[in-house]
Amino acid sequence: MNASPSRLVAPTAKPRVIPRAEHTISRSHVSPNALRVLYRLKDAGFHGFLVGGCVRDLLLGIEPKDFDVATDALPEQVKRLFRNCRLVGRRFRLAHVFFGQEIIEVATFRAASAPSQGEEPLADADPEDGEAPELDDPDLGAESAGEAPAGEELAAGTVEAAAGHPERMFDATGRILRDNVYGTIDEDVWRRDFTANSLYYNIADFSIWDYCGGVEDIGARRLRMIGDPETRFREDPVRMLRAARFEAKLGFEIDADTAEPIGRLRELLAGVPPARLFDEMLKIFLTGHGARSLEVLRQRGLLAQLLPNVEGYLSAHSGGLVERLLVKGLANTDERAIAGRPLTPTFLLALLLYGPIAQIIEALPPEKWHELSAIGEACERAVRQAQAHLAIPRRFSLGLGEMFSLQPRLEHPSGRRALRLLTHPRFRAAYDLLLLRAQFGLASGEMARWWTEVQEAPQEEQGRMADELAQAAGPRPARSKSGRRRRRGRRGPRAS
Ligand code: ATP
Ligand code: MG
Repeated sequence: MNASPSRLVAPTAKPRVIPRAEHTISRSHVSPNALRVLYRLKDAGFHGFLVGGCVRDLLLGIEPKDFDVATDALPEQVKRLFRNCRLVGRRFRLAHVFFGQEIIEVATFRAASAPSQGEEPLADADPEDGEAPELDDPDLGAESAGEAPAGEELAAGTVEAAAGHPERMFDATGRILRDNVYGTIDEDVWRRDFTANSLYYNIADFSIWDYCGGVEDIGARRLRMIGDPETRFREDPVRMLRAARFEAKLGFEIDADTAEPIGRLRELLAGVPPARLFDEMLKIFLTGHGARSLEVLRQRGLLAQLLPNVEGYLSAHSGGLVERLLVKGLANTDERAIAGRPLTPTFLLALLLYGPIAQIIEALPPEKWHELSAIGEACERAVRQAQAHLAIPRRFSLGLGEMFSLQPRLEHPSGRRALRLLTHPRFRAAYDLLLLRAQFGLASGEMARWWTEVQEAPQEEQGRMADELAQAAGPRPARSKSGRRRRRGRRGPRAS
């Protein structure tokens, strides 16, 4: 590599190379599109490796969520190789290669976190096993595009460029703001978060390269940070959420040294761009392990950072109906994710914010509990509280308001007009929420059943059912959103 004086020198550590015959990863389990990318890189004279979570998951026998590729080709060189390719990200530039719905992310090796020569990078790394093939470098001396970071300001005075390198920048807390210093695979490994995420699968001979004992840690189901945990969490506080996510998703135990700083550093999450936290929250809750993630986030004090109002509500109403509704809703969502059915962030927000919204509504006089304006305002307030740290896109907060405003209309349908709700764009989500509420006695089970039946009935039967219901309608005991009995056992206003 053409090391410039400002660039960190490559560490001496070499990988343990595990030949194809000694591991279980087969190409038949790799996305054909990822293989296409790897072979194209190889045929063009570059190195191509699968890296990160996909290698980890394949070793665990789990189907990977996505396939990431690492290469010595520069982003511009990758772009020239693929017509269906776009360069994305300014702070961390990489190439996306598109195949219909599937995107293969191709990242050029980074040098940024590599320790200096002679410095011990990881106390118990086991570099001596296996041969480390030398990589020849096409033209890594080239500079990456020097653009301003996207989405956040570089506050003057608080930003340092590492070793004077403008492509690697930190803020005053040690958070990486930009990382576009390219390097070799030997360097790239040190910028990865956990040992389990740092394995490389080489398309040239199907071997696995292991620099930090990742294979052993995966075998022991252990999540261990590469390098000094505190420094690495400071560089990117989202790694704390990632640790919790992998603990929940993989059933790994976070190594004590890795877990220790989380309690001290979790407040640094406040400095992470809110849009990134929102994306991370979706990965935490919408990828099949949401119920377990909630437990882990709470145990590690991270929910209080992500959604302080949700943590506040749950700790004040521990073991209550709303908590049970949330856990059951997340478990249902996990089932849907595992079955590959569509999921919406709107429904997730409704589950998470159910308690805070109910609390705001119940602070009002009971006769207002079913008023649409009161419900709409409560949703908006709960969303505003949640936006302390998360950027919640408007379409989801609007959808949330609609879901909650539909609840009283579903609970007290007004004759044939109510049938129009069946074609409301939020009907399905609102109905699912009604079912869940009914399951915990937070809405009438009878009405939930009625909506189930009416959806399945032929059209003329639907009209008859609505008429019957209107005739039979009489006062019924109403409940508050969180299960408190209303002080006056009367229905809300007609609109609800
Ligand atoms: P999954 O795809 O199951 O969410 P993953 O480990 O593949 O898990 P990705 O976000 O797809 O996670 O990232 C791919 C790889 O990139 C990781 O395995 C890790 O090596 C590296 N990586 C991603 N995010 C970070 C980060 N914040 N800090 C350090 N390395 C990271
Ligand atoms: Mg991944």
